[in-house]
Amino acid sequence: MPASPVWHPFTQHGLGEPIPKVTHAEGALLHTAEGRTVIDAISSWWVTTHGHCHPRIMAAIAQQAQKLDQLIFAGWTHEPAEDVAAGLVAIMPPELTRVFFSDSGSTSVEVALKMALGYWHARGEARHRIVVMDHSYHGDTIGAMSVGARGVFNRPYEPLLFDVARIPFPPAGAQQATLDALEAVCRQGDAAALIVEPLVLGAGGMLFYGADTLKAMREICARYGVLFIADEVMTGWGRTGTLLACEQAEVVPDILCLSKGLTGGAMPLAVTMATEPIFAAHWSTDRARMFFHSSSYTANPIACAAAAANLAIWREEPVRDRVADLARRQAAWVEKLGRFRHFDNGRTLGTIAALDLRSNGESGYMNGLAPELMAFFRDRDVLLRPLGSTVYVMPPYCITDDQLDAVWNAIGEAVISF
Ligand SMILES: *Cc1c(COP(=O)(O)O)cnc(C)c1O
Repeated sequence: MPASPVWHPFTQHGLGEPIPKVTHAEGALLHTAEGRTVIDAISSWWVTTHGHCHPRIMAAIAQQAQKLDQLIFAGWTHEPAEDVAAGLVAIMPPELTRVFFSDSGSTSVEVALKMALGYWHARGEARHRIVVMDHSYHGDTIGAMSVGARGVFNRPYEPLLFDVARIPFPPAGAQQATLDALEAVCRQGDAAALIVEPLVLGAGGMLFYGADTLKAMREICARYGVLFIADEVMTGWGRTGTLLACEQAEVVPDILCLSKGLTGGAMPLAVTMATEPIFAAHWSTDRARMFFHSSSYTANPIACAAAAANLAIWREEPVRDRVADLARRQAAWVEKLGRFRHFDNGRTLGTIAALDLRSNGESGYMNGLAPELMAFFRDRDVLLRPLGSTVYVMPPYCITDDQLDAVWNAIGEAVISF
C-alpha cells in the first residue's frame, strides 16, 4: 500500500508506478522535487493552452485574491463573472447569448443536458432521448458517462447509466451511415438533443472526422428541431486550429460546453453557453420554471479572473499565430514519423497530432503498451500519456522548437525500442 493517502485519478495504485512530485512550472516545462525538468507534451491533460504560469493569468489571480475570494452566485454577481460572460458573448458565435457557469467539463455537460431537457419540458413536449456518437467522451459524472462510450471505465456503474440513442462514428468515406442513423433517430420524434465532440473525439482515441459531416449533422438536427450540443471542452480555445472546432464547419450549436482552456488551464471553471430560445424557455415569473442547477463554487471570482485574463490574451496577443505556427510544426513531425512502418494513421488537426502504433496485441485503452510507453517517456523527461496504442502530442502553444523536437525524438526512439 502506498505511503501517501492521496488516491489519484485514473491510476492503478497496485502497479506501484512512480508518481513524480512537481514543485513549479513555466511555459511547457514542469520541474520536479527530484530536480528533473519535464516537457509537458499533453498540456497537463489538455487544459494548459498558453503555457504554465502565464504572467497575465497569474497576476489576475493574485489581484483578485486580494479583493473577493468567493460569493454565492444565486441572486448575486461580481465583476469577474460579468467580464467573462461579456467577453465570451463577444468572441463566441453571436447566437450564443447566455452564459451559465460551473466548475468542470463534466458539470458543463450535465448543465447542457439539463438545459435541453428543461427546454422541452417548458414547451410541453415529451422529448427525453439524448443522441450520442460512438466512442465519445463527455466526462466522468453519471450523466456525462451516460452520454459517453461504455467500456471498462464505467462497467461497475453501467446499470445506473441512462439509456441513449447511439449513432456510429463517421470514418472518412463512410459518413453516410452516421447521417442516416441520426436522421432515423430524429424521425422518431422523442429526441431532445444530440451531443457531440466537434471534429475530434479526444479520449476515444483522437479520432478525427470531417467538417462536412459535422455540418450535415447540424442540419439534420435543425430540420427535426433536435437541439445540437457542442462539447468543445477539449476542442475549444484554439486546439483544432480555430477558436472553436465548430467554426470549421460553419456550425453554431444551440448549446456550447467550454472548460479546460477557459482559464488558460490555470483554474477549474466551465461555462455552458445557450441561445436565447433555451434561456427564454426557462424565463418566467413562475419560480417552478427556473433552471434548477448550482454548485457551491459556481463562477468563483478567482477562477473568473483567470478566465477574464485568458480572454484578454486572446484579444490582445497573437494567439492565433502561435496556434498556426504550432500546427505547422506538428504536421511536419507527423509527416516525418508517419513514414515509419511502425505507425498507422498519422493525423493532425490544428495543434493536435496523433499516430497509431501498429501492434498485434489488444487494441483500445487497455492496450498493454500504453503504460510501458508512458514509463519510457517519463524516463526521458517527457510527459505523454498514450491512449491505448494511440500516441498523441497536444502541447501548450508556447512550446519551443527544441522542446517539441525533444518530444517527437522520444516518440521516434520509442517505436524503435518497442
Ligand atoms: C475532458 C473532457 C470533459 C470533462 O471535463 P472535466 O473537466 O475533466 O470534467 C468533457 N468533454 C470532453 C470532450 C473532454 O475532453
